[in-house]
Amino acid sequence: MTVLVVAERTGGRLAAASLDAIAVGISLAGTTAAVVGFAAGPGARESASDLGQYGLARVLVADDPSLEGAPPCAGAASVAAAADRVGADTILIGGTTYGRDLVARLAVKWKASAANGVTEVTPADGALRIRRPVFGGRATETRTLAGPRRVLSVRPHAFPPPPSAPASPTVEPLARPEDPAPLLGPKRTGVEATAAGLGPSLGDASIVVSGGRGVRTAENFHLVEELAAALGAAVGASRAVTDAGWRPGSFQVGQTGRSVSPQLYIAVGISGAIQHLVGMVSSRVIVAINSDASAPIFRVADYGIVGDLFQIVPALTAEIRRVRSA
Ligand SMILES: Cc1cc2nc3c(=O)[nH]c(=O)nc-3n(C[C@H](O)[C@H](O)[C@H](O)COP(=O)(O)OP(=O)(O)OC[C@H]3O[C@@H](n4cnc5c(N)ncnc54)[C@H](O)[C@@H]3O)c2cc1C
Repeated sequence: MTVLVVAERTGGRLAAASLDAIAVGISLAGTTAAVVGFAAGPGARESASDLGQYGLARVLVADDPSLEGAPPCAGAASVAAAADRVGADTILIGGTTYGRDLVARLAVKWKASAANGVTEVTPADGALRIRRPVFGGRATETRTLAGPRRVLSVRPHAFPPPPSAPASPTVEPLARPEDPAPLLGPKRTGVEATAAGLGPSLGDASIVVSGGRGVRTAENFHLVEELAAALGAAVGASRAVTDAGWRPGSFQVGQTGRSVSPQLYIAVGISGAIQHLVGMVSSRVIVAINSDASAPIFRVADYGIVGDLFQIVPALTAEIRRVRSA
């Protein structure tokens, strides 16, 4: 098996989601020698050396300036060309918005069987057997991807990170394929961080602290943000909070917001409506702080604190700061 891992860059470094894809690639191929990296756009050469930190010995780089800010449809032709050049049968991508979009386009362009958001992948008689949460985490799908080519995105944080194994990869430039049609589409001309973008991003963070209507006012929401800052976590919110305008829509976790699956999710003053749960129930450990012992959030929580968040959250934040500074 030869695997092509597509690297994505955020905040000037390899996206955490790309590490998930590298980990799955190495475990599937059984050796880093059969895992080839691919990086495109600005920072592609830096990504190549970052991929080397995990033992990848060969990275194809498409640093054509026309790929800067281009939509995934522009990158799909280059990824398919890279996969063909190295003789890959499997392409792995981190499960970001970009990655999921790219999977769909590659399925068509590269004529591959495809799946998004996988949490398990195992070889099965020349095919790949995958498992992934569906219906907002209420069921798990098991599927066999047949055929000679597969393209998959990996659910964030579903796999342990790959071991560090520093190497100096061979970097091979890849010219953009002569295929103007995929370059059609809106081009991103700028990125401005929103308030939600100032800390770790919701999608990448390994810890998320979310606040709900229980915080009562926009002014009180700083309690949630201070707890998140003490933990180095991203800040999320229920829809009650974003509908009230206490925080922007980009904070919202749930059916009509972001889906997250961090190592640790702390729900502060959130009741646990199904529309919220579908966006966070696959988190590895869930902690709920709520004054109502019968709140539905406690049915999915691994640890629950029944009590007044206005007492518990400041005490928790102070204790975490104390422990961290010790
Ligand atoms: C189509 C549709 C889509 C939706 N999409 C989403 C979505 O994406 N995300 C989402 O979150 N919701 C979504 N909703 C809304 C959802 O149904 C709930 O209304 C919402 O999640 C409730 O937010 P909440 O838990 O913050 O508020 P509430 O349900 O009002 O819960 C507040 C909680 O705070 C607790 N509390 C109060 N005071 C304290 C205190 N002092 N200390 C500790 N705890 C306290 C209360 O016991 C209560 O459990 C959607 C609804 C619909 C119909």
